[in-house]
Amino acid sequence: MEEAKSEHVVLFPFMAQGHITPFLALAGLLASRHPNLAVTLVNTPFNIQTLTKSRATIPSSIRLRSLPFFPEEHGLPPAADNLAELPLLQFVTLFQASKSLQSAFEQLISDISEQDGRPPRYIVSDVFLTWTIDTARRFGSFHSIFITSGAYGTVVYSSMWKHLPHRSADCGDLFPLPDFPDVLIHRSQIPKHQLLADDASPWTVFLREQVSRFSETDAVLINTVEEAERKGLQMMRQMLPCSIWPIGPLISSAVPSMSSGGGEQIIQWLDSQPPASVLYISFGSQNTITASQMMELATGLEASGVRFVWVIRPPVGLDVKSEHKVEWLPEKFEERMRAQGRSLLVHGWAPQLEILSHPSTGAFLSHCGWNSVLESLNRGVPMLAWPLSADQFFNANMLEKELGVCVEVGRGNMESSMADRVVVERMVKAVMCGGEIGREMRRRVEEVRELMKAAWMEGVGSSLRGLSEFFRAGGDRRR
Ligand code: UDP
Repeated sequence: MEEAKSEHVVLFPFMAQGHITPFLALAGLLASRHPNLAVTLVNTPFNIQTLTKSRATIPSSIRLRSLPFFPEEHGLPPAADNLAELPLLQFVTLFQASKSLQSAFEQLISDISEQDGRPPRYIVSDVFLTWTIDTARRFGSFHSIFITSGAYGTVVYSSMWKHLPHRSADCGDLFPLPDFPDVLIHRSQIPKHQLLADDASPWTVFLREQVSRFSETDAVLINTVEEAERKGLQMMRQMLPCSIWPIGPLISSAVPSMSSGGGEQIIQWLDSQPPASVLYISFGSQNTITASQMMELATGLEASGVRFVWVIRPPVGLDVKSEHKVEWLPEKFEERMRAQGRSLLVHGWAPQLEILSHPSTGAFLSHCGWNSVLESLNRGVPMLAWPLSADQFFNANMLEKELGVCVEVGRGNMESSMADRVVVERMVKAVMCGGEIGREMRRRVEEVRELMKAAWMEGVGSSLRGLSEFFRAGGDRRR
């Protein structure tokens, strides 16, 4: 590694669990592979506090810096500076509010420049913080956007916001994506807020602005693997003029816990279950299903007889911090599951990576948020998809149609619910009970896992090469 001792990289993820975690993994990677590089991760106060609580699991050389941010000033609840704290419809308020961080960020970059005697060589920002391009230009730093999602999902999702194709009068339920007419979109893959959005909606305005600025960055880093996402990367390279380097899978074992305790009991319970017998169910850190979908899922699961760990968040429409209510589930469901000792309901937060790494876990019913996808593939766990929002629908498509490691079992766009207890029962049994579908998915997931390992093989790995090219381009820029 050739950088001089005082080179500095500043990383700025958006304020969401699914963004902070891969940035943290990137920070850890940089700190371990390039010990001469100073690595600073920037965020808002409550997120930095959460990270500080997990400080023991984060390499000590990574500096954590907080920018002043007062959620109440932007119409957000106090301490709500993370998407996990907000209902979906308020996400856009946090998106817009994030622009107010610009002057504090520039002050921080100015302070770093003074301390180091020169500006940071690299600024790596989130896709939702493209204003950092202006900061990088001002200080002469090499700017890079780090996409924490997959290539295919990101391209299709961005293109959907760019064109809002479902709004055209003659569009039926299934229609081609204007930028890539061979990609067909079904209306049920569009969340309600997007179905209702027009050109002037805050979501549209914010997301179009970010997407249009992608072409101004110096380079794109993306948390995927060249060999696993050829089609998506090809589409992305068609859309963006800059270099695009896949550097995945970046998975952090230092996921900051959003709630206290409880993890050990889950792992102990898994220890007592037969190998590959447990279905792990989670819809991620910021999404949830509707009350009626919860009933369908619970009823289908019970009928399947399959063991499961289900991380439950309150249904759509309720405060994410609400106490669990028994009426969300079939009568006496939790008691029956507990009495049978075959299943565990987790109210709140679960140690997902540990669960996916456990030999008793046989499959993952997931909303297909990209971190969950990578964690599952990396641990060789096949998936049942139940996408709910954003790129998740297209991640699920890619996993099912291209990689063959997943089957879609439900879909929730809040307009219509595609969740059916009979389908849940059938698909869960098909994947978990030794049938051909499950066997084939396991075979394919092992292949993808090998591709992912190979991406970091010394000398030949594609992600390793992507990272070196990023450093080379940043270095050339300065000469
Ligand atoms: N996660 C976790 N425990 C939970 C829920 C989520 O550890 O109970 C972690 C999960 O391992 C992943 C991240 O939170 O790293 C969620 O990111 P993802 O992209 O899958 O979904 P998002 O939350 O962004 O929708």
